Amino acid sequence: MEIVTGISRMREISRSVRSGVPAGREEQAAGEGDGKTGRGRGPAGARRAGPRRLGFVPTMGALHEGHLSLVRRAREVSDVVVLSIFVNPKQFGPAEDFERYPRDLERDAVLAAREGVEFLFTPSTGEIYPPTFSTSVEVERLSRVMCGASRPGHFRGVATVVLKLLNIISPDVAVFGAKDFQQWVIIRRMAADLNLDVELLLAPIVRETDGLAMSSRNASLSPAERQAARILDRSLHRARGLFARGERAVAVIDGAVRGSLEEEPLARIDYVAVVDPETLEPVASLSGPTLVAIAVRIGGTRLIDNVVLGNEKIAPRQSAPDPQLCRPEAAGRKDENVP
Ligand code: AMP
Repeated sequence: MEIVTGISRMREISRSVRSGVPAGREEQAAGEGDGKTGRGRGPAGARRAGPRRLGFVPTMGALHEGHLSLVRRAREVSDVVVLSIFVNPKQFGPAEDFERYPRDLERDAVLAAREGVEFLFTPSTGEIYPPTFSTSVEVERLSRVMCGASRPGHFRGVATVVLKLLNIISPDVAVFGAKDFQQWVIIRRMAADLNLDVELLLAPIVRETDGLAMSSRNASLSPAERQAARILDRSLHRARGLFARGERAVAVIDGAVRGSLEEEPLARIDYVAVVDPETLEPVASLSGPTLVAIAVRIGGTRLIDNVVLGNEKIAPRQSAPDPQLCRPEAAGRKDENVP
């Protein structure tokens, strides 16, 4: 695995992977090969690999199984995988945990290498945001609701850095986690609106044995808070159970989730949203696929989680409720709520 810090080196690698021409040999290689397939031998007998598909997984590091599941998904659909680690200052508010965000590049590099990542891209803040930097991407409306309401500017920071990373790396495919469902909706909107030439994939939420969605921020929970944090998945579990038994009223689902969260003294609700998974608009009833998303503060840590109800893949509307949906799942289990 190569650790890449420079933007120009990252671009060079990307060009070389996608064209199949070894880096730095573009000129000599031009006109070589069989002229039909683009394959052939480069100078000094170096075999040209041929164009390969480049997969990309953007993260902020402090890697866990959730991140690694995205790497595996990227691997399934590409030949070469780039994992980026960049703690993006522009997506943290002034009172948020940018300075305290966990960073452990050495450990992350070991995990990434073990997972077979070919390139670990770890640019410096100065290179991503030079002093003259003055452009940002605003995905209107979708960025203002839910997490955007309590974290003004957060999604502007996310969209801006993701667009920059996509431009630097030029992947064929990029993989995101359903844990940050709103982020997924916003990135997809941005990609469509700005005609980005990249395939975007969503991977399911990976959870701890007790249901807590894996997150780099879980490490900042005290033992008592860690226990309390189980309430997030439990509250969504209640929604899943009600839905499986035929409940379709928003007020009932919303009330059950809130009620469950309120049972936990250490939990403070930021929001409970019952919305359309494409538009993030509140729904009138759960007649189609519906996103139930929550944000909760446990002590000083803000945690998010979600479930998509009525996804045909996991809950065909005509058939009996699936008992799997009502049972706590096994260790490191994956949600199947990917639409
Ligand atoms: P982060 O490092 O938190 O910015 O997350 C980087 C990517 O990993 C995002 O696409 C997240 O949605 C995804 N991710 C984080 N936690 C999980 C998880 N528990 N399961 C699946 N994907 C995750």
